[in-house]
Amino acid sequence: MGIPASSKYVIIGAGIHGLSTAYHLALELKAAGKGSGEDIVILDKSGIASGASGIACGVVRNNYYQPAMRELMAHSVDVWESDPETYSYHPVGYMQISCESMHEDISEIYEQQRAIGYDSVLIEGEADCDSYMKDIYADWQAQNITSVLHEKKGGYANNTKSMYGLAGKAEAEGVRIISGIEVTGFKRANVASSAIRAVETSKGNIECDYVVIGAGPWVRDFWNMLELPKTVSIKGKDGQTHDGIDMWTFWQLEEGVLNVDPDMFKTNEGKQPPVMHVDTDATLYSTVDGSVIEQNKIWGLYYKPDFHFGGVQGGAMPYPVTTPVDELQLDPYGPASPEWVSSPEFAHMWVSALAHCHKRFEGLMGSYHKEPSGGVGCFTPDSFPVFDEFCENAYILADSNHGYKMIGVGKLVAEHIMGETSELLKPFRFARYEEGELHPNSNSPFPWS
Ligand SMILES: Cc1cc2nc3c(=O)[nH]c(=O)nc-3n(C[C@H](O)[C@H](O)[C@H](O)COP(=O)(O)OP(=O)(O)OC[C@H]3O[C@@H](n4cnc5c(N)ncnc54)[C@H](O)[C@@H]3O)c2cc1C
Repeated sequence: MGIPASSKYVIIGAGIHGLSTAYHLALELKAAGKGSGEDIVILDKSGIASGASGIACGVVRNNYYQPAMRELMAHSVDVWESDPETYSYHPVGYMQISCESMHEDISEIYEQQRAIGYDSVLIEGEADCDSYMKDIYADWQAQNITSVLHEKKGGYANNTKSMYGLAGKAEAEGVRIISGIEVTGFKRANVASSAIRAVETSKGNIECDYVVIGAGPWVRDFWNMLELPKTVSIKGKDGQTHDGIDMWTFWQLEEGVLNVDPDMFKTNEGKQPPVMHVDTDATLYSTVDGSVIEQNKIWGLYYKPDFHFGGVQGGAMPYPVTTPVDELQLDPYGPASPEWVSSPEFAHMWVSALAHCHKRFEGLMGSYHKEPSGGVGCFTPDSFPVFDEFCENAYILADSNHGYKMIGVGKLVAEHIMGETSELLKPFRFARYEEGELHPNSNSPFPWS
């Protein structure tokens, strides 16, 4: 089948956002009697799950210091829970385990989770935290922990499987997914209007009424194609407007796998463990030679079982990439990249950090999976998503690398396209920078918390 000459809705990117928007838009069109999935095509230059969604650790959590992020995540968790089997979703819960400098932020998150009815438990004080953790894992040994936020909802999903599940649901509604087709530009309606009339691709033009861009880290390229500003003005918390702030920054996400028997990482009761995230200022010693890796600073890690490679998968703090934004080579992406994969320093730190938390992981450096892993993410000026409409008929989902868990955003975007206003998406509008309506910052060492 050739490519269509026109399609009412063209969605770019077969990752979490493109697929979710397509599926939910198909449902909305059908319910409103205004069309069906047959009015929608998804274009991807590679294929389903070939971007960040296909390599994400897959953590689904609510633990955000920013109220708007928490509300959006609670909405997304409802979508994950609506079809756990197809989405390959494991509702094992999530634990944020922190040192004293994060205690106040975490208590606030807990209070606000209670206010929105998101089920979680807060443990405070070093002794109580230690005994709560030992009740779950007898070999727990992390130091300096004074708060544990245990989210009973959330968990993780298997990255590629969930994308294929979502793609199958979209296709069952009549959506067509075309792989191996690269979008290279846009044709405008006329000189007076910025609206998009057609999408230019490596296989010819496709006329359309509306475009959705879910391009993950490649959002930089689409921003340039649409000639949107490379820098922004931000009204800061000091009330002053700061000009010339770069719109995009890339960070390298450091992730890896410890190849051990997955049954080695279970709770005392033999159950699947919750997703674990630990931030602490305790001294971190090497599990290889006992040398000091981190001292007098907060460091963090996250981990969960891995049934694909077999073992435990997770990551640590990302680092900002210094290559100029327009020069950074994104392709080939992820583990296939010759440049942007996790470093040997990461492996040493992460395995040592696992051993800091649980005795069972001591001395296991030799079991670290040596294949390349990790990848880059594209971040906005405040490291929070921009979900907004540009050029009259182009919706951009730029999730600032928060987004695998945000399966519900496509549903909200579909509702927006059908004419509904979303209060949940409003805090993520582009104009917030100019208006100074910024999200609060936490004390976490991660740019995404
Ligand atoms: C290592 C790593 C771990 C992560 N872990 C988590 C996690 O645990 N939890 C979480 O919530 N988030 C996580 N994230 C973030 C999350 O993966 C991303 O925010 C999210 O997957 C982005 O989804 P997307 O649909 O916007 O883009 P993507 O999944 O990147 O999809 C974009 C698609 O667009 C296509 N494309 C690009 N350019 C073009 C073009 N010109 N023409 C046609 N198609 C094009 C690509 O081929 C790709 O398939 C992680 C990210 C990384 C890198």
